Amino acid sequence: MTTPTKRARPATEIKAEDVKNAGADLFPLQFVKGIGPARAAALAEAGIRTVRDLLLFTPKAYLDRRTVLPLRQTRLLLGGEEGIPDQITAIVEIRRMQILESGRGQKRLVIRVSDQTGEANLVFFQGAQYFIKSYQVGDILAISGPAELFSGMLQWTHPEIEKLEEEEKGLIHSGRIIPQYRETARMKSAGLSSRSVRKLMEATFQRYVAEELRETLTDELIREYNLLPFADAVYQMHFPGDEELLQRALYRMKFEELFFFELGLAYRKEVELSAEPGISFDTHSTLARRLLDQLGFELTSAQRRSMKEILADMEKPTAMNRLLQGDVGSGKTIVAVLAMLVAVQNGYQCAMMVPTEILSEQHTRTLQRLLEGLPVKVTQLVGGQKKRIRGEILYQLRNHETNIIVGTHALFQQEVEYANLGLVVIDEQHRFGVEQRAQLRNKGRRPDTLIMTATPIPRTLTMTLYGDLDVSIIDELPAGRKPIRTAIRFEHQLDTVWSFVRSEVMAGRQAYVVYPLVEKSEKLELKSAVEHYEFLKESTFPDLRLGLLHGQMLWYEKEDTMRDFLERKVDILIATTVIEVGIDVPNASVMVIENAERFGLSQLHQLRGRVGRGADQSYCILLTKDHYRYQMRRGLSPNEARQERRAAIRRLAAMAETNDGFRISEIDLELRGPGDVVGTRQSGLPEFRHANLVTDGPIVGAARDAAFGIIRRDPELALPTNQRIAKAFQESLKRSLQYADVG
Ligand code: ADP
Ligand code: MG
Repeated sequence: MTTPTKRARPATEIKAEDVKNAGADLFPLQFVKGIGPARAAALAEAGIRTVRDLLLFTPKAYLDRRTVLPLRQTRLLLGGEEGIPDQITAIVEIRRMQILESGRGQKRLVIRVSDQTGEANLVFFQGAQYFIKSYQVGDILAISGPAELFSGMLQWTHPEIEKLEEEEKGLIHSGRIIPQYRETARMKSAGLSSRSVRKLMEATFQRYVAEELRETLTDELIREYNLLPFADAVYQMHFPGDEELLQRALYRMKFEELFFFELGLAYRKEVELSAEPGISFDTHSTLARRLLDQLGFELTSAQRRSMKEILADMEKPTAMNRLLQGDVGSGKTIVAVLAMLVAVQNGYQCAMMVPTEILSEQHTRTLQRLLEGLPVKVTQLVGGQKKRIRGEILYQLRNHETNIIVGTHALFQQEVEYANLGLVVIDEQHRFGVEQRAQLRNKGRRPDTLIMTATPIPRTLTMTLYGDLDVSIIDELPAGRKPIRTAIRFEHQLDTVWSFVRSEVMAGRQAYVVYPLVEKSEKLELKSAVEHYEFLKESTFPDLRLGLLHGQMLWYEKEDTMRDFLERKVDILIATTVIEVGIDVPNASVMVIENAERFGLSQLHQLRGRVGRGADQSYCILLTKDHYRYQMRRGLSPNEARQERRAAIRRLAAMAETNDGFRISEIDLELRGPGDVVGTRQSGLPEFRHANLVTDGPIVGAARDAAFGIIRRDPELALPTNQRIAKAFQESLKRSLQYADVG
């Protein structure tokens, strides 16, 4: 067993008495050997409060023969053009430390390092004194970060550094794998470097393994999925015996986490939701039949498949909770309308909720047009209606004089009463979180719920985000659609872009010009759109009719503008991303997106979906900075600028290559991670410690199968064999509630 290393403890901001005042409850770790109050507080700040948290503190990376590159090989990689990893890790020894001054008086610390194969410089523009104090010639460092060649010398600027012991360097050559832990500034100042965490872990593990790391899964699952026992997995995660054991350990940790997450969803879906009695509809509907007959087109096979799935749900006596996913223009609306007609035929009302008032207006019109000649009344309820009109609408709803009501959140306000609500359709679901879904379902009755989203998301995300819903997918566009042509253009080509826009307008079509939301500030967003509008109106298109649409306008101003655009009183609409959701102007054939590199792919795809809705060939032009401008971003090294440019252009190129929203969302997920793909923080996407939704799709699937299988066979987790699972499940729920309280 190791004792904590002796060191002069650097002054910390945390005083022992603060910790005392906070109480032992908050920092229970301080009673573990090797952890005093300051360390306990530093760990608590990093989210590690209990022994269990500490044992489950996952290494952020591992040093081994595969991840560590000799300097010579790094040099060779940088010399070629292809495939330079963003992060290069090397193990080196300090040869020399020097503070140099540039011509402009800027000081930098240059640490000359070497391994058996070559030399490199580590350059620091800040923190020179700290490094000089903390490191000395002869120290062995693990360094990682983007490497580059600078005046012929291999160089890392501000790499991450970890001091290793001499024998650890040797260990790597002997094939050992060394975990590296995240170190916060506060942890460092409390003497908790990655290395000391390793030591702490050893001691803690020996002492607490039996009580903290009891097995959580059944022997059967462990066998079926070839898992390491839980305690072994945790041990291997911190002290990997070899590469294979490490991989199995990490697999188990991810499986563990995902299994209990999916178990929660399975429980919700199978027990909570389906226990509630719902409506059993008779799905033979003459209204739906009549609509199909008067449509003038055949449903695609994907639409028919989805329709079947929906009708099967509606027939069942339990409440439907189904997600209908499909690209913009794939024909979700028609499917939803058919489902609504079934409900209407059965004597029920339907509510269709959309995120904005413009959309509500548009959907109301679409529905009224589609249902012309059928005995079905469609009305709209939004926030901004006149009192008298609103009163009338509410009266009609209460007295079943309306069959279908379309609207925003207003639909679910307190005073809105339905005579007989049977089906709720939610459009553009990604704007509504899990919470709102629940609220909605709890609107007194048990209506069936159909959620439509035009944001295709990868299956892995669907399984986590909508894991308690059944999913139907429309992965096929109606025949005869002309795919939108997408091109990337640079700023110096702006003139050609504008003259192309002009030629389309001259040919009788309309265009969108979209500006990104600059930072998160509404004011800036406004300024940018307004300024560009003024500029284009005065100098580029003085003879054309321009309109402006942004998020700061009042809803009726927005509607007026949209109506003008729809009625062709406006040729070019300058807009921010408020147009992202659902507006349908078939005559618009061009969309120019400025600063396209600032958008995520999924968002670009959403925007692009605004064109290509009519018979004409449509175009999407992604405008981005000229090459050289990528290099002018302050604070970027040439290497970083090069990488940024390459990444931006690669992203945009993906847009030009495919119109398939599912494919795009997968690329987006890889490039930007799940939070950005889904869009908002309130998306309800859980944060996982071990699992990575980008790369661990198959594990999500396996854990999901396992969890749903267990709940299907034993919904209340009452069988004796499932007691370990039941206990661990309860504890995980308790923990997530505690975290929710803290947060
Ligand atoms: P989404 O809601 O999925 O974006 P919509 O339902 O608005 O798509 O459909 C886009 C357009 O395609 C509408 O004009 C609709 O009438 C039409 N459409 C839908 N399904 C078909 C089909 N099977 N064949 C031809 N056109 C279709
Ligand atoms: Mg739609």
